[in-house]
Amino acid sequence: MNNQIRNIKGTKDILLQETLVWQFIESQVHLFFKQYGFEEIRTPAFENTNLFIRSIGEQTDIVSKEMYSWIDQGGNKLTLKPEVTASVARAYIQHNLGKKFSINKLYYIDSLFRRERPQKGRYRQFKQFGIEVVGSSFPEQDAEVISLAYNFYKFLGIKDLRLKINSIGSKESRSLYKDALYKYLLPYKNKLSTLSQKRLKTNPLRILDTKIDFEIEILNQAPHILDYINKEDREHFDLVLNLLDSLKIKYIIDHKLVRGLDYYCKTVFEIQNNKLGSQDALCGGGRYDYLIEELGGKPAPAIGFAAGIERLILALDLNDEKFIQSPDVYIISLGEQAIQHSLVIAESLRKNQNLIVITEMLRRSLKAQIKDANRLNAEYVIIIGEDELKNQEVIIKNMNKGEQIAIPFDKINSYFVK
Ligand code: AMP
Repeated sequence: MNNQIRNIKGTKDILLQETLVWQFIESQVHLFFKQYGFEEIRTPAFENTNLFIRSIGEQTDIVSKEMYSWIDQGGNKLTLKPEVTASVARAYIQHNLGKKFSINKLYYIDSLFRRERPQKGRYRQFKQFGIEVVGSSFPEQDAEVISLAYNFYKFLGIKDLRLKINSIGSKESRSLYKDALYKYLLPYKNKLSTLSQKRLKTNPLRILDTKIDFEIEILNQAPHILDYINKEDREHFDLVLNLLDSLKIKYIIDHKLVRGLDYYCKTVFEIQNNKLGSQDALCGGGRYDYLIEELGGKPAPAIGFAAGIERLILALDLNDEKFIQSPDVYIISLGEQAIQHSLVIAESLRKNQNLIVITEMLRRSLKAQIKDANRLNAEYVIIIGEDELKNQEVIIKNMNKGEQIAIPFDKINSYFVK
């Protein structure tokens, strides 16, 4: 019988070298997003369940079947965050950020939880980075958000980026379009899958996401949402496209892109990558001009995107070598007194020379310690044995050049001054 406790399905441990890849990506997010004037926001891991019902919408997959929700000992209905936008909107309202600044440009890196069917690129706990801009209704804001996402992937060296974009207009035009799509699909009702038949009743727009061939065929002749949006929204969309043209960002207008969540309006977009198989979306986002008001705040236009880190790692052509964190110095110590010296020398090199220094913790033989220093690809090895102690010196070996030199204890620091 196996009593071993294992991780939960759809979650994963990130180990050793892989953590360095994560650290690299997260550090790049901080650097890159700050270049555009964004500031970080961190919101709690769980919120009142109602926040997500009100913002994401009851009919969505996330709210209807994917949330990790529970009632705590105090009777509160709580949910582990399935996405970040709702929490940011809540925090924006709660802390009066709209009053403090006319525009809030926020970014985040956060863990999310959805009870989806796990597969490659799809987990039940996953991490996203993303941005939310609250305050501007202008098309240049859409262009900035989209170009930031696109340029970030390019900056990381991802090729084959596919930017898909669409406008779903205002609430009113969407409702007109919903009716038109419903009328178009009704004669095909019996041919549709059970899921799509259900969606035809609840939210026909979701049928546009279908991956089933014969449904795609039926949808080829379906009306386009762009023909239903009003003049103002059309002008907004055209301006966004013009700005993307000036920025030399290629896009595909995708009539079927409507995004799953209720709160989107006007511009919606997705960036995809060929390498990812069926879960090919690297990031997705759009405008959500009504959300703040719907959550009880003073009306404020907003736009953002969310991007999965697991999928980004899958899409990156990683040269693992780049991520090996080799020590600068490996101190080999033989005997108790040498161990004591090794700890003091290590502290001094870390503090004064900013070096990565490893000391021996297993009291192994000289041979075993040298083997370990080689395994870790240390640049220098410092050896402290009996002879060295007697002479109050150490041997410093440059592992790349194969040269070695005896240095007195009090000169070790200056040896490493670059
Ligand atoms: P969404 O919040 O659903 O719009 O997703 C935005 C991005 O987050 C997607 O394009 C993916 O990169 C990532 N993502 C969403 N759901 C998952 C998941 N279950 N596992 C891993 N990544 C995900």
